[in-house]
Amino acid sequence: MASFNTLDDLGDVTGKVALVRVDLNLPMKDGSATDVTRVEAVKPTILELAEKGAKVILLAHFGRPGGKRSSALSTSFVQGDVEKVLGKEIMFIPEVSGPVAEQAIGILGPGDIGLMDNVRFWPGEEANDPAFAKGIAALGDFYVNDAFSAAHRAHASTEGLAHLLPAYAGRAMEKELTALDAALGNPETPVAAVVGGAKVSTKLAVLENLVGKVQHLIIGGGMANTFLAAKGVDVGKSLCEHDLTETANKIMDEADHAGCTVHLPYDVVVAKEFAANPPSLRTCNVHEVAADEMILDVGPLAVEALGDVLKTCRTLVWNGPMGAFEIVPFDAATVALARTAAALTQEGSLVSVAGGGDTVAALAHAGVTEDVTYISTAGGAFLEWMEGKELPGVSALSK
Ligand code: ADP
Ligand code: MG
Repeated sequence: MASFNTLDDLGDVTGKVALVRVDLNLPMKDGSATDVTRVEAVKPTILELAEKGAKVILLAHFGRPGGKRSSALSTSFVQGDVEKVLGKEIMFIPEVSGPVAEQAIGILGPGDIGLMDNVRFWPGEEANDPAFAKGIAALGDFYVNDAFSAAHRAHASTEGLAHLLPAYAGRAMEKELTALDAALGNPETPVAAVVGGAKVSTKLAVLENLVGKVQHLIIGGGMANTFLAAKGVDVGKSLCEHDLTETANKIMDEADHAGCTVHLPYDVVVAKEFAANPPSLRTCNVHEVAADEMILDVGPLAVEALGDVLKTCRTLVWNGPMGAFEIVPFDAATVALARTAAALTQEGSLVSVAGGGDTVAALAHAGVTEDVTYISTAGGAFLEWMEGKELPGVSALSK
């Protein structure tokens, strides 16, 4: 991993202005946040900087205003939630540059916190316009990026600012980069990857990157059906991208050459309807799926064998559920494999890192959130990292 400065590298910051990029794009309902996980994530960075005596100025986007002011998308909507989580009052600043912002920051004392308005109100943000970035940079003494979830975007507040001011990774960013490096950058081998979810088409780049990096590629979820079909298995009415079977074969060939073992289910849980505990529910060998049945989960024998694979591994990276986990009992394989991974992690034999919207929900459903090494809630940025892409927000922090 390229090295980057962290808050440990800061000198005396008393009275200095820290411009801190955070993710405050909270899910909202009726004007208040339904989940403040993102605020909790950046709290340590904000409080540490405040304790060190910096003036902490938060920069964030909120929704997609498309480069125009929009009263419905002001960050002032989350001010109350941020104050509650931090346990401190903060000052709202309705600009991100210029004299009004400058005056507001001038009023703040060491350790005070300000929240600027939605940085995407200005077209220069998403265009990464150097003049726009300079206007923001003029307000601050240094820049801290604590928004890994926005690091796949080369925007002024996520990338441009890092070139204009001394730049540091915040604590959440530091934790995320360290975990991701331990999982794929510089992992202890053997490494297993679990890739599941609905479709191959959304994860082609992930699969292509992983076959060259991991020793075991465990494919589950709907996408396993496409791989099974590529091997000549009749998957009945299952979700399957028949136009991608050639691609699936290519990936399996590449894995073969790279010394990566691809694990596909050999028993499966099937049903004729997509419903909880349907009367047609049964478990069978993959070669016994009837024309009117759908594969909705990996079977128990395969899950047990996959658990044995994990026991031989030192590192696990996981994206995508093994089955249609939202509906009972098609959560069984995901839950069982998650619990095995969590137990191995607790025993100290496995480093386990997972991410992805539905994956985060599935692992929470399995009750293992606290027992795996790291769960990334970064969404798009996590997937791009799984694809092996360079993230501009991270590269810009590199020394
Ligand atoms: P993530 O958000 O973690 O990246 P995805 O969005 O790729 O994960 O996939 C999650 C979805 O895949 C879930 O809604 C789940 O129901 C669906 N899924 C998993 N297995 C199957 C299956 N066998 N058939 C149909 N859908 C499935
Ligand atoms: Mg999803």
